[in-house]
Amino acid sequence: MFALPNLLYAYDALEPYIDAKTMEIHHAKHHAAYVAKLNEALAQAPELQNKSLEELLSSLDSAPEAIRTAVRNHGGGHYNHSLFWTLMKPGGSDQPQGELAARLAKSFGDWTKFREAFTKATLGLFGSGWTWLVADSSGELSIVTTANQDSPISQGLKPLLGLDVWEHAYYLKYQNRRPEYVEAWWNVVNWPTVAARLEK
Ligand code: MN
Repeated sequence: MFALPNLLYAYDALEPYIDAKTMEIHHAKHHAAYVAKLNEALAQAPELQNKSLEELLSSLDSAPEAIRTAVRNHGGGHYNHSLFWTLMKPGGSDQPQGELAARLAKSFGDWTKFREAFTKATLGLFGSGWTWLVADSSGELSIVTTANQDSPISQGLKPLLGLDVWEHAYYLKYQNRRPEYVEAWWNVVNWPTVAARLEK
């Protein structure tokens, strides 16, 4: 059985960029619902119950067809949100440092260009989904978007940074102003965690 992870900071810790009410509903309602529905689906497939979330999502084809979509949506939702919470931190951190900064510069020109490209991908994403900085199996970095709760690990990509672009992530504070949400979010990105994910 999967469980809702605790946040490492209070719901109001990302104010004023991400408001407390949004964080609370996002974590305690939306994320909790993904966990509950994933467990509900897995209850019908005992053979999958000793698999890790990463294993489930990287081999969706091996899930019985009756629950495959549920594992994809709710397993993806659980994985993506569990990661998302760790990619933000109170007060944020200025910008990427060290090896991460060098790799972003190599792939995108420089840090500012990476940020522009990531923002552009986010603003161009139609409907609900996520924007990601990912590494492929050869370590090449790129920016991708996924629809709904699809996770990059289902495509063999390792997510280093991800931004939730579902309206539930910003609507209470920003309503339809997605650009303002994205602009604010850059202030709370946890770059040391992104760098640690790259190293692994
Ligand atoms: Mn979300």
